[in-house]
Amino acid sequence: GGSSSASSVKQVKLERESELRIEVGNETPLKLRLLNGSAEIFGSELAPETWLTFPPRVKFAVFTWYGATIEMDGATETDYTADETPMISYVNVNAVLDARRKRAKASSPNDSEASKGPRVIVVGPTDSGKSTLSRMLLSWAAKQGWKPTFVDLDIGQGSITVPGSIAATPIELPIDPVEGIPLEMPLVYFYGHTTPSNNVDLYKTIVNELAQMLETQFSRNAESRAAGMVINSMGWIEGTGYELLLHAIDTFKASVILVLGQEKLFSMLKAVAKNKPNVDVVKLQKSGGVVSRNAKFRQKARGYRIREYFYGLTNDLSPHSNIANFSDLLVYRIGGGPQAPRSALPIGADPVASPLRVTPVNIDRDLLHMVLAVSYAKEPDQILSSNVAGFIYITDIDIQRKKITYLAPSAGELPSKYLIVGTLTWLET
Ligand code: ADP
Repeated sequence: GGSSSASSVKQVKLERESELRIEVGNETPLKLRLLNGSAEIFGSELAPETWLTFPPRVKFAVFTWYGATIEMDGATETDYTADETPMISYVNVNAVLDARRKRAKASSPNDSEASKGPRVIVVGPTDSGKSTLSRMLLSWAAKQGWKPTFVDLDIGQGSITVPGSIAATPIELPIDPVEGIPLEMPLVYFYGHTTPSNNVDLYKTIVNELAQMLETQFSRNAESRAAGMVINSMGWIEGTGYELLLHAIDTFKASVILVLGQEKLFSMLKAVAKNKPNVDVVKLQKSGGVVSRNAKFRQKARGYRIREYFYGLTNDLSPHSNIANFSDLLVYRIGGGPQAPRSALPIGADPVASPLRVTPVNIDRDLLHMVLAVSYAKEPDQILSSNVAGFIYITDIDIQRKKITYLAPSAGELPSKYLIVGTLTWLET
């Protein structure tokens, strides 16, 4: 395998416990179906003989527990079969989680500890397969009738909404192999940058807010409390990244830490968990199928992700271009605003950084091509603690006429006039 092939129909027979690893070509989509046997894509079962169309550049594997024949139609960048996979160890983890969910469900809802299902956090370096493992665990749980909550803390390559955000959403059905995570009503907080070092305090603040909101929801909903959470973390695991990882583990009260492909991180977390009797740290093998993506690819993927938010995966959405007066919109920035120059401060005073200060931003050409979040805040002082309704993309600023043109998922008035700007930009292509 491994060679490019011309567009053609091809059948692949898979032995039990093996997988077909595919990278779709850069230009054309790939059609694929299950001819016989049974198979799944990242935990989601394929319906027999039903063609699925994968967009360009997607990387995935079709795995079979008992054997299958797969048919492909279209050009791939790569396709090969592998019979060495860590799938057995992954599905064993799921069996343990299933038992814990059952135990949580069977206990009295008044016992707030015992009725709490597993809270799993998947950690590891970038490209260790964290998102993929999260997805499998969620799909297997959904297939067993649970409605676990997916929490995505990865501001670089999140799978729920646009980059620069953290988000959570309940998973009620196995995740669609093509469409990914369903986008109905996720709970989203906007960070505004694609690396956590821009504003560590802000990152922690929104993680706290998200966790609190989920705690409130769980306290009212025994079913989702028992199903628990699967949390995907950032691939940033050194220095500040490690500090933020520990912060997330504590904040979400993680009970299971799955460490993918890094011995050092495993032993560090194992040492931390020594003082935490209710936390299990489990080392799991990274799949040989995980594809490494370089910084440039990741940057591009962020752009595609923003495009997908507005236009849909297959251009199936029609965003709306709107025009507003400058005075209709109130744009705010969190932290990082212009600091008072040293000369303006009393002698001896340091210009203190105030990473959580919310400051109004003048509308000018600097906002061009920026992606802004629409906050649910009703007052500026609620911006920091509020989740966001969605995003807009600034396509034109007319200084003379004081008009701003922006792309929004739909026509009509925005749910709020409070907008948050960070450093998230996009060049529409
Ligand atoms: P991480 O979240 O750790 O950065 P991902 O789970 O996103 O890593 O995996 C990186 C890429 O590899 C993704 O495009 C994913 O679809 C792909 N991938 C993961 N596992 C496999 C596999 N077994 N076969 C083929 N591609 C895979």
